[in-house]
Amino acid sequence: MKYYSTNNKNRKVTLREAVIEGLAPDNGLYMPEQIPVLPPSFFQTLHERTFKEIAYEVAQSLIGDDLPKTELGRIIDHTIQFDAPLVEVEKDTFALELFHGPTLAFKDFGARFMSQLLGYFAKEQKQEITVLVATSGDTGSAVANGFLGVEGTRVIVLYPGGKVSDIQEKQFTTLGKNITAIEVDGTFDDCQSLVKQAFLDGELKQKFFLTSANSINISRLVPQSFYYFYAYSRLVKQNKPVIFSVPSGNFGNLTGGVLASKMGLPIYKFIAATNVNDVVPVYLETKEFTPRPSKQTISNAMDVGNPSNFARLNDIFGGDHNAITDFIKGYAFTDSQTSKVLAEVYANKGYLMDPHGAIGYLGLRQYREENKSDFIGVFLETAHPGKFKDTVEHVIGAPIHLPEVLQNFLQGRKNTIKLGTGEYKNFKKLLLEELVSA
Ligand SMILES: *Cc1c(COP(=O)(O)O)cnc(C)c1O
Repeated sequence: MKYYSTNNKNRKVTLREAVIEGLAPDNGLYMPEQIPVLPPSFFQTLHERTFKEIAYEVAQSLIGDDLPKTELGRIIDHTIQFDAPLVEVEKDTFALELFHGPTLAFKDFGARFMSQLLGYFAKEQKQEITVLVATSGDTGSAVANGFLGVEGTRVIVLYPGGKVSDIQEKQFTTLGKNITAIEVDGTFDDCQSLVKQAFLDGELKQKFFLTSANSINISRLVPQSFYYFYAYSRLVKQNKPVIFSVPSGNFGNLTGGVLASKMGLPIYKFIAATNVNDVVPVYLETKEFTPRPSKQTISNAMDVGNPSNFARLNDIFGGDHNAITDFIKGYAFTDSQTSKVLAEVYANKGYLMDPHGAIGYLGLRQYREENKSDFIGVFLETAHPGKFKDTVEHVIGAPIHLPEVLQNFLQGRKNTIKLGTGEYKNFKKLLLEELVSA
């Protein structure tokens, strides 16, 4: 399979190049040249297969030509080390819990897959690969933990100081080894913009081997399609249309789902559910895509003002606004709506959501109100509520139990480098010093 840039379909690269480059030199995102459709036999037997088997088949058809079978098997095995259970919250409404990985957020799937794939490519390479990643919270922890100790790689995490939860922060600032955390006095968008500028910087590119682990990297996208197939396989017997509601920020998770549907998974519709950072719902409504500075919310992993995977969504639908709006419904919710529903569902159904999952749930609920049709709704529970302990405890008015892995992270000592402002020249200076001294 070859990969093209969303900014230039004629420039094609191999998987290795796409993964190592992250962002294409023309600032586009890589997409597979063709999206393979899986055979009917695969779908007929889907319900009998394990998560790993499903993930392997999907990955094999997407990237199977690009690495040895044994290697792909090993990577899948490493990635799918935990389950993604469906929990029925109320009739025909399920939470797809994607938080059973080591950092308790769905990003573990993408980060684990990517670290292994990049580790494989790094072996053929003399120079160390430096992974630059901007995070609004969960990416940093998933990527840092995914790459911790992976030979030939080094990770630099940029995050907006004071704008991520304590637990999130501890998950990437306490690790040491090949992981460095930079605390930026700014927003997530500032962090993302610094990373993007670094990739376009000729001098840095000459001196170091830089790549990105943000959801712009194609190797994060591929594994984010696996659990849609898996969830569907557990629901197919019920013989109803299935709708996925995806709490979204950079739209990598939702794009993974759309990729699954283009590979033949018969998903009826998607709901793009956001907090007040509603650039995509506004686009769906008005056809105008207008990035703007992000606002801080209690679902902070979705505080994104310029969603990078929009370029991929747009590409998949060939820029056809009607086709997109037919398939994807957009809804945005405020913090007070989020808190209210979180408390309500906990009190009435005994299910504790995190603020991101709560937005997914709200999306489904709104869709049900507007469409009286019979369907199964699945909202993606993208993080364990314990990751947002303070917010969640405040909302439900009771203490919550922290899983042991989270408690362990809290014991660690924070170690960061502070970047006074989001100015690129300061960042570059820091990077040059940091990487040279390594
Ligand atoms: C990253 C994240 C999201 C948003 O996912 P995107 O792929 O950026 O849309 C939602 N919820 C949680 C908990 C996250 O960490």
